[in-house]
Amino acid sequence: MTTQKTIAVLGTGIMGAPMARNLHKAGFAVRAWNRSHDKAKALEADGITVADTPADAATGADFVMTVLIDGAAVEQTMVDGGALSAMSKQAIWLQCSTVGLEAIERLAAKANKEHVAFVDAPVIGTKRPAEDGTLTVLAAGPRDLEPRCQSVFEAIGARTIWLDNVGEASKLKLVVNSWVLAVTAAIAEAIALAEGLNIDPQQFLDTVKGSATDNPFLHVKGKATIDRNFAPAFPTDGAYKDIKLILAAAKAAGIHEDLMTAVQHKLERTVQLGLGEQDMAAMYRATAK
Ligand code: NAP
Repeated sequence: MTTQKTIAVLGTGIMGAPMARNLHKAGFAVRAWNRSHDKAKALEADGITVADTPADAATGADFVMTVLIDGAAVEQTMVDGGALSAMSKQAIWLQCSTVGLEAIERLAAKANKEHVAFVDAPVIGTKRPAEDGTLTVLAAGPRDLEPRCQSVFEAIGARTIWLDNVGEASKLKLVVNSWVLAVTAAIAEAIALAEGLNIDPQQFLDTVKGSATDNPFLHVKGKATIDRNFAPAFPTDGAYKDIKLILAAAKAAGIHEDLMTAVQHKLERTVQLGLGEQDMAAMYRATAK
């Protein structure tokens, strides 16, 4: 009989809450903490224990998983909130938030200083894959941690891609998000253009369907845009945070980031329209007349 492992999930927002539920379903003892207590409290009905502080959640846990908005929030929770110093030296910190390249190095250094094992583990997939436990986990850290992390990643994801060095998973995550954000902005413009030219936008989707230029994402975000359904799966505020991380990485890599700069402007205008909490497909609102 294997002993039950305990995991602290710090951050129970759109992604963290379903990830915590799936960990519980997979047999982990889950302790959840969230800055706004009510969001974590909602998980009690699922059999998840709610902690009052990040340190309470982390004490004695085998794993601590951070699913917070950005690097500053992770640092505040893990360092100022006392979770890192409360962790057992045998425990592993799984850092699943998208924090960018500068912050991931800083967080790894904090873990190193406390002699805590650290895995850079951002996830790909939005609300629905998080609920279905079908995320893709990009995990980077020492290979000897891989078998110990396997059951955690299998509980939240359908696929894990393991990379050797901390920082590589965050790099790959930014590359993937640069693609996703560019496609989303292109969908917003193509639909706005169709409507502006008095062409039924559904005809655009039907025309490319099954061709080499088709893309399943086009039909998901395209339909949502035509229906003006911008319920958040990947909120605009999060996308705007990510585009800044992508631009910083592109600048450091010395590439010409013309497209990402344009997407940043579109996301910025979407946020200025007060649509930050809506899905990033609401970039349409900052595009159409
Ligand atoms: P979310 O629903 O907005 O949740 C953000 C979480 O961060 C909440 O728990 C929030 O607490 C917490 N937080 C914000 N500022 C904080 C601070 N200063 N101190 C402590 N906690 C703070 O975001 P999400 O969509 O779950 O995203 C979480 C992470 O996953 C982000 O890094 C995001 O980029 C990444 N991600 C998101 C998606 C997606 O599609 N949504 C996909 C892949 C990866 P409160 O509840 O108190 O505000």
